[in-house]
Amino acid sequence: GYRSRAAYKLKEIDESFGLIKPGQVVVDLGAAPGAWSQYLRRRFAPEGAAAGELHGTIIALDLLDFESIEGVTFLQGDFREDEVAARLVQALDGRPVDLVVSDMAPNLSGIPVSDAARVAHLVELAVEFSLQHLRPEGALVCKAFHGSGYSQLVKLFKESFRIVKPVKPKASRDKSAETFLLGIGPKSGKDVGND
Ligand code: SAM
Repeated sequence: GYRSRAAYKLKEIDESFGLIKPGQVVVDLGAAPGAWSQYLRRRFAPEGAAAGELHGTIIALDLLDFESIEGVTFLQGDFREDEVAARLVQALDGRPVDLVVSDMAPNLSGIPVSDAARVAHLVELAVEFSLQHLRPEGALVCKAFHGSGYSQLVKLFKESFRIVKPVKPKASRDKSAETFLLGIGPKSGKDVGND
């Protein structure tokens, strides 16, 4: 089993788009309690084993602590802080990233305008990181929320990636505003803005 049912959301997205392949370098943002990392790990292990040899690199980051998973590098910290993002870059050690997955969700205040701004900030940082570190064919899967600010996030994705698909996995409850944006193929700096 998985630490959280969240694993089934990533599984559905992976099965629809064939994103995860053994040997990749994957960054898992907002990774605690660790179900997405567990799923990634199984995809990178021969015969989907929960332990043993791992073919691929998983770097997970969260504000909260994370019970270790064999073969997963975990960094604790706030992705909004430059120092934390710098530690992540250091852990990559110059390797380009094949896939960034972000299930980061801010603590919500209940005030729609400020909640939308908090969500947007995390999505923007995930996009910025992806544009800097993804391979040309790499992808970002990022949690977003329908409602205030969502259309601006779709616009940001369209400016930033060659292919953009909004995805609502069945495992994400129908009535929840939660949804995901998939961006494939980061546009290089000079492409941004001319689609
Ligand atoms: N994908 C995870 C799993 O499968 O177990 C579940 C992620 S949970 C829905 C959202 C996570 O985002 C929380 O653990 C939270 O601590 C993290 N988070 C929110 N804001 C963050 C930030 N600024 N930096 C790092 N992590 C953050």
